[in-house]
This record gives sequence, C-alpha cells and structure tokens, in this order.
Amino acid sequence: MKLVIATTNQHKKNEIQNILTQYQIHVECVSLSEIDFSTEIIEDALTFEGNAIKKAKTVGLQTFEWVLADDSGLCVDALGGNPGIYSARYAGNAATDEQNNQKLIKTLQGVQNRHAYYACALALYHHHDRLFVTQGKIIGEIIDQPEGKNGFGYDPHFYVPQAGCTMASLSSEDKNLISHRTEALRAMIPHLHNIAGIQ
Ligand code: IMP
Repeated sequence: MKLVIATTNQHKKNEIQNILTQYQIHVECVSLSEIDFSTEIIEDALTFEGNAIKKAKTVGLQTFEWVLADDSGLCVDALGGNPGIYSARYAGNAATDEQNNQKLIKTLQGVQNRHAYYACALALYHHHDRLFVTQGKIIGEIIDQPEGKNGFGYDPHFYVPQAGCTMASLSSEDKNLISHRTEALRAMIPHLHNIAGIQ
C-alpha cells in the first residue's frame, strides 16, 4: 500500500518510513515531490491539528491515496504558547533558524520561566472521509547559549531534562526515540496497522 507523506522534505519522509518499518508496517511512503504534487497549501489554521488536517485533506482529495500530514512547533509557556504555529516564521516570513532563535532569546531576556515544549500533530486521511488525528509532545527549557550542532530549528536552545543536554546535542537516532514527532507517530501506529491490513 502507498502512503503519501504530505511533505517535500525527503528527510522527514525517510524518518517516517524507517519508524513504520520498525513497527512492521509495510507501506511505501512517498513524498509530495515524488508524486509531483505542487499545489501550494496555505497553513492558516489556528492549531497544529487544524494545519495537519488541512494538509492531509488537500492532498488526499487530489490524489485519492492515504495521506499522512504533520504540523509542529515550539510552544513557550512565558510567551503564552508562542511561537507555536508560527514557529517557522517567528522572525518573519522568510526567517532563518538563526533569526528565529535570536528573536526568541531576545524576547525571553530577563524572563525566569523557561518552560517550553515541542508539539506535533499528525493527521491521517483518506478521501472517503476517514480521518485520524494524533499528538506528541516533548518538554524542555529554553537556554540562552546555543549548544550542539545536530537537529534544526530551535534545537540548540532547547534543553531536554530527560536527556541532560540540548536537542541539538543528540544524534538524530536519539532524538527520534523521544521527539514529539515520534510520539505522535507511535500513537498513529494502531490506525496504520488497521489500514495497511485492510488494503
Ligand atoms: P514543521 O511543521 O515540521 O514544518 O515545523 C515548523 C517549525 O517548527 C520548524 O520550522 C521549526 O522552527 C519548529 N520545529 C518543529 N519541530 C522541530 C524540531 O524537532 N526541532 C526544532 N524546531 C522544530
């Protein structure tokens, strides 16, 4: 069975394919670039779930395939959950990771409460209106000085107490054991097992 992963990011697609294989789910994951899907999807929902569902439905209604879409971001307690769904464009529409991180650290200057979490929502959709949504979360703290060279986004400033280092200090294998994306994907496994079984 084919499973379209609603991303053009080959790395994300491969990561999902590997985790599914580990769970004995034998589906062929394909990215949007691999199926030449080029319709722009505006992520204008107000929640991670809303954006993931919008992406999954847009792709599912055009391809008639099962689609898995995600949306994720960093939520900082002292900022009322921001940057949240705006994580990728916190410092502006074309902002780099470095600019987003600089804005974050500047905004948190003098703020004692550094509790934060990464959140991920996944939506699995098929055009006969079958929809499953799951969530994942990992708790951390924002630190001023960046540490570590791995990962992406806010990882150098995201200290993970359960690992004793920043997310950017973990190998991708270790990050994948504990990340918000992995947790959301694990919650999706029973649904994927069911649909892979009935195809
Ligand atoms: P996306 O939904 O995976 O495209 O992520 C949106 C934005 O959230 C990214 O551009 C990052 O700024 C942030 N983000 C999501 N997941 C992570 C992560 O695992 N590490 C660091 N930043 C992340």
